[in-house]
Amino acid sequence: MFHERYSCHFCGRFVLEVEGWAESTQPYHQILAPWDDEATFFGGASYHLACLRSFDRHAEVRREFLAWITVTRDTISLMGTDGLQHESTRTGLGFTERVAVLASGEIYESPRFDRWVFVESAGPFHILDLERAETLGRGERLRGNDGVHSQLLPADPGKRIEKWDLPALLDFLQIRDLYQGLLDDYAPNYRFFEGGHSRAGYVADYSLSAYIPLPDDVTTFFAGYLRDYVPKRLEDA
Ligand SMILES: [Zn+2]
Repeated sequence: MFHERYSCHFCGRFVLEVEGWAESTQPYHQILAPWDDEATFFGGASYHLACLRSFDRHAEVRREFLAWITVTRDTISLMGTDGLQHESTRTGLGFTERVAVLASGEIYESPRFDRWVFVESAGPFHILDLERAETLGRGERLRGNDGVHSQLLPADPGKRIEKWDLPALLDFLQIRDLYQGLLDDYAPNYRFFEGGHSRAGYVADYSLSAYIPLPDDVTTFFAGYLRDYVPKRLEDA
């Protein structure tokens, strides 16, 4: 497995983050990583979602994602440096109610908030708030987050990066093949803001969003489910 920052955990190549395609977990996320001989947790990992889907142990990744997504709090057993097992309390995402089993995956709902998570059969997961679920329910495609990323690049592109479009940037990063499907069919919106040098190297500030590739059965599910859904009241939370 690969552990360098911005290297895909599964393929080792650079990860240019874009929701629904290439993501990372937060360092404090206590997702266990039994498939990884060198790390206890999957926290702080970057990955291309397609690489997770094709990883030969993706069923284990999915199982550990689910174990963390579907609990509010639980106890996990960890091997200590003393070679003994120790119990530790973990906070999960709290999507405790399974509301759909689909051909493409499962959907879990938060009992407190109007939020769902779709966990693909092949492992990747997608968090959906009510607005997103409603967009899907109307049969529309869902565009990923277009917030600004600050990302360390593996090499200094110089001033020319300011003129590059997304394919040119992906060529420079030597990852265009991994993003070709996004370029072809998912209408990426790319914008470069600024770049600069940090102690670690060249950091680019950019935004990049694209349609999230969600299967049709998720769309169909929300179209039906939201017809009778009563939004949760905050005071009940
Ligand atoms: Zn990868």
